[in-house]
Amino acid sequence: MALRCAGLLLSKELSSSIQQQMRSLGTSSRLFASDFLKNSPNTALDKSLLNRYRNLKTPDGRCQATYLWVDGTGENVRLKDRVLDKIPAGVQDLPKWQYDGSSTYQSQGENSDTVLVPRAIYKDPFKPGKNDIIVMCDTYLADGTPTPSNKRHDLQTAIAKVEHEEPWFGIEQEYTLLDVDGRPFGWPANGFPAAQGPYYCGVGADRVYARDLVEAHTLACLYAGIDFGGTNAEVMPAQWEFQVGPSLGMKASDDLWVSRYILQRIAEEFGVVVTFDPKPVDGPWNGAGAHTNFSTKDMRADGGMKAIEAAIEKLSKHQERHIRAYDPKEGKDNERRLVGRLETSSIDKFSWGVANRGVSVRIPQGVANAGKGYLEDRRPSSNCDPYAVCNALVRTCLLNE
Ligand SMILES: [Mg+2]
Repeated sequence: MALRCAGLLLSKELSSSIQQQMRSLGTSSRLFASDFLKNSPNTALDKSLLNRYRNLKTPDGRCQATYLWVDGTGENVRLKDRVLDKIPAGVQDLPKWQYDGSSTYQSQGENSDTVLVPRAIYKDPFKPGKNDIIVMCDTYLADGTPTPSNKRHDLQTAIAKVEHEEPWFGIEQEYTLLDVDGRPFGWPANGFPAAQGPYYCGVGADRVYARDLVEAHTLACLYAGIDFGGTNAEVMPAQWEFQVGPSLGMKASDDLWVSRYILQRIAEEFGVVVTFDPKPVDGPWNGAGAHTNFSTKDMRADGGMKAIEAAIEKLSKHQERHIRAYDPKEGKDNERRLVGRLETSSIDKFSWGVANRGVSVRIPQGVANAGKGYLEDRRPSSNCDPYAVCNALVRTCLLNE
C-alpha cells in the first residue's frame, strides 16, 4: 500500500513538473532575443562570392592538401594548406612538412621547427577540386621524438601489437553550439531555456537549434570518407551528438579528429562556435562526453561476454590511469562532468552495469541479451583525445599493462 501511495505521489509530482516545464517552454520562447549572430563576423560575409573562384579550373595534375594536426593543448586542431604537384596515391606520396611549433604550444622559440608526418588521407569537402584532400598528421620535434601532445604515435605502437585481435572502436561525440558571445546557441539572452526534457532527439523550432549545420556536417563527413554513424539532438538545448565507427584500429580516432575539424569549419561558415567543453553550462544541464564503444574479435564471437567481463575486471583496477587519459587536463575537465548525476558516474569510483547510464562502463542491453558484442566506456570527456582513450583501452584490456 505504502508503495502504491509513493507511486501515486510520484506520478502527481511528475505530471506537475512536466506541466511546469511546458509552461516555462512557452515563456522561454518569448524571452528569445533577436540578436543571434549579430556580432559574428563570419555570418556577415557573402558566402556566394567564393563560388566565382571555385568554378575556375585547377591545372591538371595539381591539387590542394590541408595538413591537419593536434596542437599543444591536446584538444584543438590546426591546419595549413599546400599545393601538390602530383596527385598522391597514398600517404607514402605525401611530403613531410614543418610549422612553427612555438605558436601552437608545441616547442620553444629558439628551436621551433616542428615536423608534420602525414598519416591518413580524406577527401576535402571544402575545396572544389576532386583530388583535393585533408591529411591527418602527427607531430615530431626536430630530433625526431613525438611532441608531448602526439598521442597518435603511442596508440599506433599499441595497435600494431594487437592487430590479430581486431580491436574496433565506435565513438559518440557530444558537443555544444555557442553564439560568438559564448552563450549556448538559441538560448535566451537573459535567463535560461525551460528545463531539460523536451530537447533530446527533439523536433521543432523551440526545441532544436541549427539542425541545418548538423545535417551539412553529416553530408561533408560522408563525402570525406569518414565512417560516420549518425547524429541526434542531445539532452541540453544546443547540444548535439554524432558518432564515428565502429572502425578497426586507428581509423575511429583519425576519423574523429577529422570530423571535429569538418564540424568546426562548417560552423565557421554559419558563424556559430563549436565547443567540446565537457561541462559548458553549470547547474542542472547535462555535460558532454565521448562515450567510447570497444570490442575485440573475442568479444564479438559466440560467448564473447566472458571476454567483455574480463576486460571490465581489468578496467576496474585502473580507474586513475583511465581518468588521466580521458581528458586533455588529466582528469581536471572530467571533474566538472563526472559528478555521479545527470547520466554520469563518479570520477573516483569505477562502476559497471547492464543498461545503466550512471556507471563508468555500460554493457548495453542488446549485448547482454546476445551474450557477445562490445562494452561502452562512458567516462571519456567530449574534449578527449581519442588516440589517448583508445590507447588506454588497448593497453589495459589487451596488453595487460
Ligand atoms: Mg549522447
